[in-house]
Amino acid sequence: MTEHNVHHPRPLIRAERLRARCRQMGRAIARDYAGQDLLVVPLLGGAFCFVADLVREIPLPGLELHFASASSYGAGTISSGRVQLSALPDCAGRPVLVVDDILDTGRTLEAVCTALTSAGISSLRSCVLLDKPSRRIADISADYVGFTIPDRFVIGYGLDYDGRYRHLPDVCVID
Ligand code: 5GP
Ligand code: MG
Repeated sequence: MTEHNVHHPRPLIRAERLRARCRQMGRAIARDYAGQDLLVVPLLGGAFCFVADLVREIPLPGLELHFASASSYGAGTISSGRVQLSALPDCAGRPVLVVDDILDTGRTLEAVCTALTSAGISSLRSCVLLDKPSRRIADISADYVGFTIPDRFVIGYGLDYDGRYRHLPDVCVID
């Protein structure tokens, strides 16, 4: 039997603040893409909670979602540095918004943006819930950022530690 809560998650950003920020970001995105058929490309699984809350705050009638995945993490909190990408959507001529849970070294977003750019899209922006600028390696920033956080490993609200804790309603830190 597995031990429960061995890492003692402590809330860093609570659900109410996450929801309020999603509403603000959704409205900003809706304003910026008014009249356009926006293609939202969330990177699973980390972005699953964030994108679900975010798109419900973007009242654009032509919005479409295409789920993709990118993984750079090996076991635990150690990044392998290599990024594996799933098949990307047919997005030629479309404005695309990539959505991810967290911008850390930036390698993931850089790889995804490079792949999308070569797919002939009309415009590309990125949106992340969390930004850890102190860890950046790739020369990249996100166009929409929910919260800038210090260099702590976070879990919950989609973010995992070895597959666990994605279902926690708050973004938490573990010791
Ligand atoms: P990057 O390629 O920018 O280094 O990392 C981006 C990916 O690494 C994120 O999409 C996320 O899956 C994972 N990641 C980076 N920092 C954290 C963290 O603090 N907690 C968790 N759970 N995943 C992280
Ligand atoms: Mg991720």
